[in-house]
Amino acid sequence: MEKYLSQLNDAQLEPTIQIDGPMIVIAGAGSGKTRVLTYRIAYMMSKGIDPFNILSLTFTNKAAREMKDRIASIVGASEAKNLWMGTFHSVFAKILRIEADRLGYPSNFTIYDTQDSDRLIASIIKEMELDKDIYKYKQVRSRISSYKNSLITVRAYFQNAELIEADTMARRPRLGDIYKEYVERCFKAGAMDFDDLLLKTNELLTRFPEVLAKYQNRFKYILVDEYQDTNHSQYLIVRALSDKFQNICVVGDDAQSIYAFRGANINNILNFQKDYDDVKVFRLEQNYRSTKNIVNAANSIIDKNQTKLEKIVWTANEEGAKIKVNRSLTDGDEGRYVASTIWETKMQEQLPNSDFAILYRTNAQSRAIEDALRKRDIPYRIYGGLSFYQRKEIKDVLSYLRLIINPADEEALKRVINFPPRGIGQTTVDKLIVAANGYERTIFEVMKNIDKTNVNVNSGTRTKLQNFVTLIESFQVLNQTADVFELAEHVTRTTGLIKEFNKDGTPEGVARMENIEELLNGMKDFVEGQKEIADTTGNLAEFLEDVALATDLDADKGDANHVALMTIHLAKGLEFPYVFIVGLEEDLFPSAMSMNTRSELEEERRLFYVALTRAEKQAYLTYALSRYRWGKLIDSEPSRFIEEIDEQYLDIVTPIEERRFNPMLSADIFGDVEPNKIRYKPAKQPVLKKGSAAKKEPEKFQVTTPKNLKPVSKTNGNTNLFDSKLVVGNIVKHIRFGTGEVLKIEGAGADTKAEINFQHGGVKKLLLRFAKLEVV
Ligand code: ATP
Ligand code: MG
Repeated sequence: MEKYLSQLNDAQLEPTIQIDGPMIVIAGAGSGKTRVLTYRIAYMMSKGIDPFNILSLTFTNKAAREMKDRIASIVGASEAKNLWMGTFHSVFAKILRIEADRLGYPSNFTIYDTQDSDRLIASIIKEMELDKDIYKYKQVRSRISSYKNSLITVRAYFQNAELIEADTMARRPRLGDIYKEYVERCFKAGAMDFDDLLLKTNELLTRFPEVLAKYQNRFKYILVDEYQDTNHSQYLIVRALSDKFQNICVVGDDAQSIYAFRGANINNILNFQKDYDDVKVFRLEQNYRSTKNIVNAANSIIDKNQTKLEKIVWTANEEGAKIKVNRSLTDGDEGRYVASTIWETKMQEQLPNSDFAILYRTNAQSRAIEDALRKRDIPYRIYGGLSFYQRKEIKDVLSYLRLIINPADEEALKRVINFPPRGIGQTTVDKLIVAANGYERTIFEVMKNIDKTNVNVNSGTRTKLQNFVTLIESFQVLNQTADVFELAEHVTRTTGLIKEFNKDGTPEGVARMENIEELLNGMKDFVEGQKEIADTTGNLAEFLEDVALATDLDADKGDANHVALMTIHLAKGLEFPYVFIVGLEEDLFPSAMSMNTRSELEEERRLFYVALTRAEKQAYLTYALSRYRWGKLIDSEPSRFIEEIDEQYLDIVTPIEERRFNPMLSADIFGDVEPNKIRYKPAKQPVLKKGSAAKKEPEKFQVTTPKNLKPVSKTNGNTNLFDSKLVVGNIVKHIRFGTGEVLKIEGAGADTKAEINFQHGGVKKLLLRFAKLEVV
């Protein structure tokens, strides 16, 4: 048998070598579902299946890349190259480009990101003179998005009295009209939004049987990871493509279905066995990721959900530390607790920053955490905020590039027509939009033929409009010969963008310049990368597509050493040795907006399950008693999810000082007394479960605040270096690294650090408080 297969347990091996027919692997977190998919593809290829016939759909492009790399390491890079792997969006965007003309789109269609969609919808609401407080563009966008994901086209909408009624009841009777206008404007601009990539694929596969047949024959084997989070539109695509050969393998975990709010349908996984004949069902039970404590705690949580498939998850891994629960007074304190814990653990265990992740329910929570990390000089990175490609200056550059390949692109045009300023005012732009709608032409076409139109602008403005057209056309000419990098360089210079950002000399301006430089570097990489892969052309359109579908997870090449901050939604499928789940408070997590029905609450609980199961070694749960939300300090209660975890897996940490001296904390957090009404009541330890209070003595609480950590004394064999008797030049001995010479001493008191050049292990920076050093 192939050697790599020995890296699977028996339960994993079975689905890995089961190639034909429909099959599903349902298993809990960390049990190797993704590993099975990866090895299965390698195995299929080793059995002679052409990689060209395999389609693998993942939840992020990063996951696809990692799978591909792993497969390449087993079967060889040149073989793996031909695999079709990626997210639904990226795979079907490629197919749509090939087939675009059937749907009346140019093959160079633009992909509108959420920002573009928002801007267009906001502009339509304005043009229709609707009340923007009732027609909130984000709500309108999400409504349109849910229609598209349920395959409700504009025509279907207007035939559906119920939907019209619902929108009318919600005081938005014109929603259908906005939807119609939005769809028409996107079409005219040669643009598809994210939802279109799935909707139009469905349209393509249903309207053109020959296209369906072509891709059915092409993708004889289909694999889908994270199947529990597919929406209706994705479900239909998979069904259609796999219908002929029925070689379909999906893996997932119903307990990790967390995207219902975006249209994911948990029934897709629950009903899989009904959708195909003779489905083989596999289960994996052994978790390889986490300690016993984490696995058991996670099981005790998900057990509370009524809607679930019964599953067993166990692990042979070590018991591990209990899950630490920390209470803070404020969100600021919470941030400081997280930062100091990371800092100490890092120093104590000599760990890279990338071993730590901080997960939260909402993006807004990152600020307090960031402040604390910055104070400690801990490098971090936020994922899923504004992605690099959505920053203003980057979008400005990209908009020029988008116009080069698709001058019909309305959002790109509106963005740069007067940036850098060239004297084309908003009134002129409004006139152009009206004319374009009237003539049923694009704005660019109207500008190009401005002399022949009835657009009422003066001759000065006319010249400016014509100059802009000439500028874009000159770029188009250059695009015939130059690569992406050369083109972008030229564009940033000749449009005056560089000058515009450079001129103020403010820190923001400098940061913008650096970002543009970074963009250009990325392009250079892209151009070089394309040269290595002979069968791709490496053109501008391809670059823009990559960019449109890139998330900042994708930008991570895995070599970066920073603490990761992200929402739990984004953390799906990932793993980290140390995980902090912060803001575990009622109304925040579970979210106040998701407590109306049992099913919403169960989704929140699944989200908590996902969060906890990202941790390999140690999980921390933190909450604050008060927190700034919507600009106000709000009292909060600990999340019910903490209480739901079986207490035996928890270790409740509260700093001693706080317990002794802070009257706020004397309130029983689940009790019926309001914290701010209590004054100097004798301290009680936090009680998470009824009856648990009596069992624990305050003294036994683990204390992790730095102040309480006593320096190691001489009496137990170690030199007390905390007072910094150490000087540069001392020769010291360390248990693990052996002898070394002190090169540098920095900081003071408890934070004193020494840079030491060790015989084994080279130069290390150690925190003297923890480093058990002896002067020799
Ligand atoms: P999730 O539900 O979170 O997506 P998963 O079921 O996809 O998890 P994987 O990510 O495939 O699980 O595996 C979890 C971890 O366990 C990974 O680090 C993986 O390499 C490791 N692992 C899986 N199976 C084995 C095995 N048989 N031997 C050793 N390590 C394994
Ligand atoms: Mg996985």
